[in-house]
Amino acid sequence: MAREQLAVAANLLDLDKGLHDVLSKPMRQLVVNFPVVLDSGEVQVFEGYRVQHNAARGPTKGGIRFHPDVDLDETTALAMWMTWKCAVANIPYGGAKGSVKVDIKQLSKRELEKLTRRFVTEIGTMIGERSDIPAPDIGTNAQVMAWIMDTISMQKGYTVPGVVTGKPIELGGSEGRTEATGRGVVVMVEEAARVLNMDLGKCRVIVQGFGNVGSTAAKLVDEAGAIVVGISDAVGGIYNEKGLPVHDLFNRYSGRDGGIREYQDAQKVSNSELLEMPCDILIPAAIAAQITKENAHKIKAKLIVEGANGPCTPEADHILSDKGVLIVPDILANSGGVIVSYFEWVQDLQNFFWEENEVNQKLTRIMRHSFAAVETSMKSHKTDMRTAALIIGVKRVADATIRRGIFP
Ligand code: NAD
Repeated sequence: MAREQLAVAANLLDLDKGLHDVLSKPMRQLVVNFPVVLDSGEVQVFEGYRVQHNAARGPTKGGIRFHPDVDLDETTALAMWMTWKCAVANIPYGGAKGSVKVDIKQLSKRELEKLTRRFVTEIGTMIGERSDIPAPDIGTNAQVMAWIMDTISMQKGYTVPGVVTGKPIELGGSEGRTEATGRGVVVMVEEAARVLNMDLGKCRVIVQGFGNVGSTAAKLVDEAGAIVVGISDAVGGIYNEKGLPVHDLFNRYSGRDGGIREYQDAQKVSNSELLEMPCDILIPAAIAAQITKENAHKIKAKLIVEGANGPCTPEADHILSDKGVLIVPDILANSGGVIVSYFEWVQDLQNFFWEENEVNQKLTRIMRHSFAAVETSMKSHKTDMRTAALIIGVKRVADATIRRGIFP
């Protein structure tokens, strides 16, 4: 899918074949198999990967995922998408991704820490504050980032906060990082609503997922004046056409699976039903492939803003675009996370930290800028927003590659 998307953009940009080849392959892939002594004393070997896709625009950047279903191909595709995402936001990074095939629910906290520290040591030849900077992804969090920072720092002999982002504030994390992705999603909702002449104050919004991204997006879109009528988590959803008390739900249930179903004054619906309920704006902020050829024609929203990575399949994209639905694509819509990760890295390198207000203002400015660039690209190439964003990302990376030239 990632290569196919690149081919579409390369074709529209009339990219040279050699350049297209450079961009379609990862620059580096590392596969590691490493042992961890479990609490029982037994030794278990885990498989992990770190992939750097392209470093033409700067050090590579991308999260570390701990999940039983990861593999080298998926990690590589995610690294490529990170390259385009950073380029669309115009931040000076290339794309990377890392993963370990593991079900963290089976590990104790001590085992998780040992696995993290050993994995980071194994991929230590690739990561570094000037070369490749990991961040959290599925199955990893601020605590895991703290262990990564500590492991690299122990090996160097001095503290290296810039080697990883998404850290706790007290270890060089950035104000505003936790809310950054959801905040960026809502900036995109506002921009897209303006383009579609929708009055946000009258818009009904459904948010799928009530974790970090979904719960923040729900809270902030409510603050922006919209009416949140539906939310869901992995267990199921709730819907009330008059609106839900989002702040209250956020304080009580954010990040706790099944919690929102305790709220009584709403209709209980399944996850798939929620996506098809009446609304103007849909924010999928859970997992990939939620809107497919099976349900795309039943979606009522006029605007979809992709908080999650890959929530709409390519077939769904076609059906929705034929229906006139505007989709703000993931590489634009959820880039707030990597943008504030970039701010965190800059602050760490300078040992000079910003206030939350400053972080939020800078984030909003970059996201609005990116949206405007993608909107212009959409009009000039007469294409959908996903392709328009990809064209910008691919062109920026291609231009950097041409400017740098091919060594030696
Ligand atoms: P999270 O683990 O905090 O939350 C995920 C939420 O999705 C939980 O509420 C979970 O219950 C819910 N969920 C899982 N399966 C579901 C289903 N089938 N239907 C409805 N809800 C379901 O994760 P997150 O950090 O909020 O990430 C959500 C998505 O956003 C992921 O696709 C992630 O890759 C993407 N993303 C996150 C960030 C970030 O900064 N956190 C940045 C960019 C993209």
